[in-house]
Parts: sequence; structure tokens; C-alpha cells
Amino acid sequence: MIGNTPLLAIDFEYRGRQRTIYAKAENLNLTGSIKDRMAFHTIRLAYERGSLTPGAPILEVTSGNTGISFAAIGSALGHPVTIFMPDWMSHERQQLVRAFGASIRLVSAAEGGFVGAIRLSEEIAAVTRGAFLPRQFANEDNVVAHEITTGPEIWAQLSGHAKRPPDAFVAGVGTGGTIMGVGRYLKSVHPGVVLHPVEPASSPTLSTGHKVGCHRIQGISDEFIPPIVKLDALGPVIGVHDGDAIVMAQKLAAELGLGVGISSGANFLAALDAGDRLGSDACVVTVFPDSNKKYLSTDLMREEPRRSGYAAPDVHLLRYRAINRVCDVCYDPDHPGDGPVQPTRAGRVTAA
Ligand code: PMP
Repeated sequence: MIGNTPLLAIDFEYRGRQRTIYAKAENLNLTGSIKDRMAFHTIRLAYERGSLTPGAPILEVTSGNTGISFAAIGSALGHPVTIFMPDWMSHERQQLVRAFGASIRLVSAAEGGFVGAIRLSEEIAAVTRGAFLPRQFANEDNVVAHEITTGPEIWAQLSGHAKRPPDAFVAGVGTGGTIMGVGRYLKSVHPGVVLHPVEPASSPTLSTGHKVGCHRIQGISDEFIPPIVKLDALGPVIGVHDGDAIVMAQKLAAELGLGVGISSGANFLAALDAGDRLGSDACVVTVFPDSNKKYLSTDLMREEPRRSGYAAPDVHLLRYRAINRVCDVCYDPDHPGDGPVQPTRAGRVTAA
């Protein structure tokens, strides 16, 4: 129920040329987002190390999806979970964290927003017996989760069906776990792959190094450059306008029936940009981090004005093919596995 998602090959026409972009359908994970991978592996590795013991409290800072993942997996394993979240994240996110049995502590901009939430969680953990802080922004396990699952899955699915290596991988940066982990795996098997981190054009934290402006692409650009992000290991940053990302996500739902969130629209447009840089027949891969259901109260569900310079209005979506989940033993996409992908500490992937 976590990981081993289908890879979508999406065919479209853009400014007179037919093209294809590949995207992992991460909306199909247990709680509907890519963060289930990170939460599951972080908890698992913490158990192995003894830093998390049965029944101990888990405290985490998140813009939403991580909190939902820790809440659900924590409940399943019998851990009380407290989530610290900026108070401007969508109501759906807050309600889902509560629905999965976790407590939530909203942090206002006046209390310091994201940075204030991290400070507060550390203070409370210091006086809570046995508390486990996953610290997703600084925890290398977040990177490893993608290095041992998302990356190998993409490689196996592409080699099985597209019969070609990826020329580029692009992903919006929240913690940076996705771009760093998938990037590290893909570089190890195909050093020529270009890795593009993605940020909102109106809030270019990666390019400037600090919080600037505001944006509507929930889940990415959380006010600072996370410690696990190593920009010198990555290629050029691609900026996407939030309105363009909203239009693109709306089109994916309305024209192809792919109900994905705003950062998925941003990733699609960044993949388009990466293809423009490399040549329109380049093999560009990305992820669709979550579904549109967490955005029912947001601008994703409203008419979005088309502004000049947007790319999404010129994208004519044609069709998509879902490339099989891979077998978790042999990685053959024609031989789908029926168990979850399980990492080992050595970084190999074995059957459950
Ligand atoms: N999109 C969404 C919707 C997310 O919740 C996140 C995680 N914050 C991301 C993208 C970015 O993923 P990562 O933290 O691995 O950089």
C-alpha cells in the first residue's frame, strides 16, 4: 500500500509537437501522497536503531502531507502523533491529520511559521519522555526512502517499457527528499541524467537562499533551504508560476481524469521546461506527489485566470498509459509484485 506506484506515460501536443512526459502516480499511496514512503521508512529505520520504541510519541513539523502520513502509519503502529503545521495550510490537510487520530498544533506567521514550528516541536520533544522527532528536513532517511524505492522503480519501469534511460528528472522541493533520493539513484545508474529542482517562480527560496514572496503550491518551498538539499549535486532550478501550475493540474483532471494536486501541475510544467532545454524528444520523468482531494477548499477548484507567459493553456493532453507496478523481487514491469517494497539498511530492495 506504500510505494511501487504505476508510472504514467502522458502524451500531449505542445506548440505543434507531440511529446511524452513520465510521472509516478504517487497519489495512489496509502494516504494519497508521496510522503507515505518517507514516513514508513523513517519509522522503520528508527525502530531498527532503537530511537523509536513501541508506543512512544512521534512529533513532526509539516506542511500537511507528511503529517497525514505519520498520523496514519503512527495510528496503525500504536504511536500517539502530534503534528506542528503552519495555520495557512488547507483545511482538508488539518482535518485529515485529526481524522487519522493525531493531535495538531497550528503555528501562525506571528509565531514564526515553519521555522517557529520547528523550534516549538524541539522544545516540546525535549520535555516529552521517549519522544521521536523524524526531522524530515534534516533526516537523511528521507533521502534514502526515495533512493531505495522511487528511484529504482522509475529505472525499472522506464527500461522495461520506454526502453530508454531518463535524460532528466524534475521534482518540486519541499524537504528535497524526492529530488535528492531519486536523483542519487538515477545518477548511480545513469550519470548523464540532469536533475532539476522546482520552485514557485513567485517565491524562489532555492534561488535566493531565503524566504521571499508567497505562492499557492502547497508542499514545496517551505521558507528555507532544507539541510538535506545539496544544490551543488543538482542542475539548474526551474521556476513555475503557481497560477500556471493550477491550470495544468486542472487540465490533467478535466481532460485525462488524473486528479492530482497543484505541485503535480508544477512538476508537469517543469518537466515540459526541462524537455525544452534538452530537445522535445528528451525522456523527462517527474512525480505527481498527491491527489486533488486535499485542495477542495483552494483555488484548484476555482476558475484560474490565464496570464500571458503561462505554458499550461498551450498543452493539449492526448492520452496516458499506465506502466505496470514492478515486481519487488525481480523489478520486471511485466511481472508485477504483490507485496510492498521493503528496504534493507544496505539499500537493497527485497520482498516483504
Ligand atoms: N508536493 C507536495 C504536495 C508535498 O506535500 C511535498 C512534500 N512536502 C512535495 C511536493 C515535495 O516533496 P519533498 O518533501 O520530497 O521535496
